[in-house]
Amino acid sequence: MPRIAIMAAMHEELSALLALMPDEQRRPLGGREFWLGHLHGRDVVVVLSRIGKVAAATTATLLATHFDVERLLFTGVAGGLGAGVKVGDVVLAEHLLQHDMDASPLFPRHEVPLYGRSRFEADAAMNDGLARASQRVLAEAPARLGADAVAAFGLQGRALHRGLVISGDRFVSGTAESEALRAALPQALAVEMEGAAVAQVCHDFGLPFAVLRTISDRADDTAHVDFPAFIREVASRYSAAIVADYLGG
Ligand code: SAH
Repeated sequence: MPRIAIMAAMHEELSALLALMPDEQRRPLGGREFWLGHLHGRDVVVVLSRIGKVAAATTATLLATHFDVERLLFTGVAGGLGAGVKVGDVVLAEHLLQHDMDASPLFPRHEVPLYGRSRFEADAAMNDGLARASQRVLAEAPARLGADAVAAFGLQGRALHRGLVISGDRFVSGTAESEALRAALPQALAVEMEGAAVAQVCHDFGLPFAVLRTISDRADDTAHVDFPAFIREVASRYSAAIVADYLGG
């Protein structure tokens, strides 16, 4: 059976996925630990992505070249940029762009030189399956997380968004910076540090991929406060639930 690659951005998410795997085997490569095994009966390889564009691109390249994978799923957290994108919402990337790519005036701003494009498209079929899984898990989230976490993080009525996700080698934690990103890229729903790099690698290898992000903060002056608590209390508990539902569905 073809193997599915899952890149998790956080240690907590990786542990949650490994806990669902009955038979994982460790394979070290390139300073990373790849975990081969089964999740919901599917052949999978699970790995910590590592943070930032270069690290994530290296991890994705190793998956594409050494593990015989037929699709790649990235799960992690992100800062919300779009007006209605709140902490606890889920964002599925339809397109990804590197917001810190700028070879102007030689190339248009954000265009990746020699690719003739700034946006890389995620796989539509994977996104449809993940959207169904996310809706199911979001509907159950209050029961899964418990009333305290739901109240603490204002997680009532959480939504799924689909659209543009932007990536760069910065943790965006300032209101001025997030406003500048919104002005330059008004369609952007969320900002993170890996997705567009993984997208470019998958484009190079013709590998279908998807990027699923839970919103951990609003990329503003309070981002550094919101982020660790959210990872601990919320994100680690249910991004694995969405992946498991997707694989089982
Ligand atoms: N010390 C932290 C570092 C996290 S860096 C830790 O490892 O626990 C932030 C991570 O979350 C990156 O993987 C990035 O993709 C994502 N992210 C969440 N909020 C973000 C924001 N506001 N700006 C950029 N990346 C963000």
